Formats: sequence, structure tokens, C-alpha cells
Amino acid sequence: MTELETTQERTPAVPAWEYADAPESKDVVRLQDRYGLFIGGEFVEPKSGTYMATIDPSTEEVLAEVPEAGPEDVELVVAAAREAFDSRWRDLPGKERAKYLYRIARVLQERAREFAVLESMNGGKPIKESRDIDLPLAAAHFFYYAGWADKLDYAFPGRSAKPIGVAGQVIPWNFPMLMAAWKLAPALAAGNTTVLKPAETTPLTALLLAEVIQQAELPPGVVNVITGAGETGAALVAADVDKVAFTGSTEVGKQIRRTIAGSHKRLTLELGGKAANIVFEDSPLDQAVEGIVNGIFFNQGHVCCAGSRLLVQEPIFEPLLEKLKARLQTLRVGDPLDKNTDIGAINSRAQLSKIEELVAVGVEEGAEIYQPVCDLPERGFWFRPTLFTGVSQSHRIAREEIFGPVLSILTFRTPEEAVEKANNTPYGLSAGVWTEKGSRVLWMAERLKAGVVWANTFNRFDPSSPFGGYKESGFGREGGLHGLEPYVELVP
Ligand code: NAD
Ligand code: MN
Repeated sequence: MTELETTQERTPAVPAWEYADAPESKDVVRLQDRYGLFIGGEFVEPKSGTYMATIDPSTEEVLAEVPEAGPEDVELVVAAAREAFDSRWRDLPGKERAKYLYRIARVLQERAREFAVLESMNGGKPIKESRDIDLPLAAAHFFYYAGWADKLDYAFPGRSAKPIGVAGQVIPWNFPMLMAAWKLAPALAAGNTTVLKPAETTPLTALLLAEVIQQAELPPGVVNVITGAGETGAALVAADVDKVAFTGSTEVGKQIRRTIAGSHKRLTLELGGKAANIVFEDSPLDQAVEGIVNGIFFNQGHVCCAGSRLLVQEPIFEPLLEKLKARLQTLRVGDPLDKNTDIGAINSRAQLSKIEELVAVGVEEGAEIYQPVCDLPERGFWFRPTLFTGVSQSHRIAREEIFGPVLSILTFRTPEEAVEKANNTPYGLSAGVWTEKGSRVLWMAERLKAGVVWANTFNRFDPSSPFGGYKESGFGREGGLHGLEPYVELVP
């Protein structure tokens, strides 16, 4: 026995300080084995007769079966939405529509815990995020647009705002409830009726929202929810709708644009991103580290506006990297329902494969990878928080959206070079600037081709603030007064 071992036996080394488990209870959620389509105010069996399983990505356990809506179902649901538009919703005074929106908002607050737990079970995101961000923001969007419903005549001075008709709304899996709120609230406030299609991996909170729509006693057919995969989405886009709103991949966005080209349908697209998070040498480093971590590891990096390209001014590269690596070591990866979890499960096996593939490409192309040591659960889909240094502009990990917890770090010398590098992307959804100098923030914000520019913060959202992209990140804005425009016809 060596000296050291003997000592250790006598005075046991202090064990690494561990958090106790703090799981949120699932009891609040009542799952059904099988769900229906929400058409005309009722849950109905799909005419297609087919169902698909939806799982918990942290355990791969099947949670429920949901319908795969086929062409006949899509026809029925659009007809229900049109009937509701013509006969009930369009001509309802704004102050009456507002009451329904306020009701939805209040019920979401009352049932927030149930929604947050289900969101984390079906999507893999940490409960602290679904509880503190997704749900409060979703309710806030309904409150905010409820406020506009009876003020449309003041929203667009000199013109009157008429609803467009039936909106087909296709949303992704990264923020299922929040994206549903972004889509539904402005559409309803403006007097449109809607058909919402959640993503195939995360249909359950949208179906629970359909229950809330019933509970709030909305007139039947004003909000409809159909589940299914890409084919269902494509059928909805091609159906007799007047407006299409899509959030998802750039590839599908382009397909949708082709489908509806030449038709009367209005379109807004919110697509991918490859945001630059730019840290100047005069920034408060510890705050910047928190902002960088929040920018890329929030929601496992499944965020279209994620700060996935870190641009660091050269003099602070070394100290910043050191702080960042130390911080990564403290991130807790694991059970989404544990209140201490920072990084939950990757949303699906397909998304995990995409992340793994791009990370392998990063290594092959010669970038240097860093991942903290941490245990991952045996079942489910997981990926460690990852940094790449030695990344150049031509690397695929610097150009393509990875949509996972993977940060590519590049450096710059001058503000001009930072702008040049930040804008050197087909995307333009968001950007972050870290500096002590207000004048520099403004100088940068004027030059960055990004729909949102955050200063000394990142990934902040507010219903009154418009969100949307430049270039291949899409067009149209959601949130704020701007977010009403895509849902109204302005007449003199
Ligand atoms: P996706 O674009 O295929 O899916 C988004 C939504 O569109 C889902 O509801 C899906 O069912 C539907 N859809 C799929 N094909 C369609 C079609 N042809 N017509 C109409 N609707 C269709 O996204 P994905 O395949 O789940 O993810 C792939 C990549 O997309 C991700 O890795 C990420 O880079 C990007 N993405 C971006 C966002 C975002 O918020 N901007 C969200 C999800 C995914
Ligand atoms: Mn897809």
C-alpha cells in the first residue's frame, strides 16, 4: 500500500459534491392511450385510420398514439375552419374575441405545471425551462394579443384591418407550446380561424391546448389541431387555406414556397439560423460566459436563433475559453424532469444522428473538439455540451445549422471583421453583441443582417417584441404589432 492510499483509507477523500435528485412529479399529467384529431370543437377519429406513436425522448418509452391525418381529414378540418370563419368568428366584435384570448391565457396559467411537465416529457427539454420560459411566454402571448383584438383600428392608423380567413399553421418540435401561441394568438386576435399542425415528435401539448380551447368555450372550428408528419403538413399547406405560417427547416420552407407560388395564399416563414454571438475585449467576461452558455445550450441548442457561432476578439480568446470550459464542466445533463437539469434529452433519434454526423465532420475537417466529462443515461437520446476551437469560416460546422448543443468558436480583430464574419452566412435570424460601449452596440446593430440583435444578453423573448429573419431565415415577423400584419388585410 502506498502512503497516499493509506492516508485515504484513514481520512476518506471528500466526495465530489452532488446534487440530490429533484424530480418533478408526472402525476399532474393524464395521458390518454390514443388521441383524436381536434376538428370543429371535438376530438374525432381520423378518416385515415392510421396512428403513430409518440415517445419520451429521455427514455424512448411510448407515451401515446396520435392520429396521422390524411387528405380526407385535412379537407374536413379546413372546411370546419372555413365554416367557423364565415359564420361565427369573422364578424364577432374584437372585444368579444379578446375575451376568449384572455380566457385561454388564464387557463394556461392555471394549468401551467401540467403543460410544463408534459412539454418536458414529450420534447426532452429541462423542466426548469418549460416551467419558467415556455409556458409563461406562451400565456404572455395570448394576453398580449388579447389586448390588440379590440384595438385593431388603432393598430394601423388610417386603415382598417380585416381578417384574412383560414390560416394553416405548421410548427416545429423545439418549442411546441410557445410556437403554438406565436401562431394562434395573433391569428385569432385579428379574426382568423386556424388549423394548427404540431411536429410529429411533439404533438401532446398541442392536443392538451385543444382541451383548453374547449374549456375556454371557443366557438367550434375557430381553432383546430391535426397531428401527423410532413405529409400532413404538406397537405394542409396545399389545402383551401388563405394564409400559411410555417416555422421549421429552411429546406421545408423552400418547398412550401414552391407549393403556394402563384396562389392567393399569404405566407410567413420562420426558418433556420446560424447566429453569431460576438464578444468584444471590453465585455464583462463572466457575464458573457453565461450569455454564451445560454445562447447555445438553452433547450439543448434546438433553437433557431441559437448563438451557435461564437466570435471572440483575439486578446480575450484564451481567458474566455478557459472560463467557458470550466463553466461547461458544471452543466448537468440528464433527466428533463429533474429541476437541476441544465441540458435535457435530444428531441429525437433523427436529430441526434444529425448532430453526431456534423460533429464528426467538424473533427474530420480539423477543428479541435472539447467536451466535459459527464455521465449520460443509458436509454434515450443524449449529447454532451460541445465546443469547437480552430474553426474557420469554410468549415461545415461554421456554416450549417447543427441544432444541437454544439458551439463553434472563431476569432476576430476589428469590429469590421466581426461584422463581415457574422454576416457571412445564408441565414440572418439573430445576433448577440457583448461590449461595455453603447455606441459600439448601435454601430454593430446597424450593420448586422439579423432580425434580432441582443446586446449583453441572448435568447430573450417578449410578446411585444417582433421576431423574424433576413435571407434564408425567412420573412415575416411574429410578436408585437408587426406580428399582427401577416394576419390582416389592410383596407382604406
Ligand atoms: P421540418 O422542417 O421537417 O419540420 C417542421 C414542421 O414541418 C413539422 O411539423 C413537420 O411535420 C412539418 N413538415 C415537414 N415536411 C413538410 C412539408 N413538406 N410540408 C409542410 N410541412 C412539413 O424540421 P425537422 O426535419 O424536424 O428538423 C430538421 C432541421 O430543421 C433541424 O435540424 C433544424 O436545423 C431545422 N429546424 C429549425 C426550426 C426552427 O425553429 N427554425 C425548428 C425545427 C427544425
Ligand atoms: Mn424534416
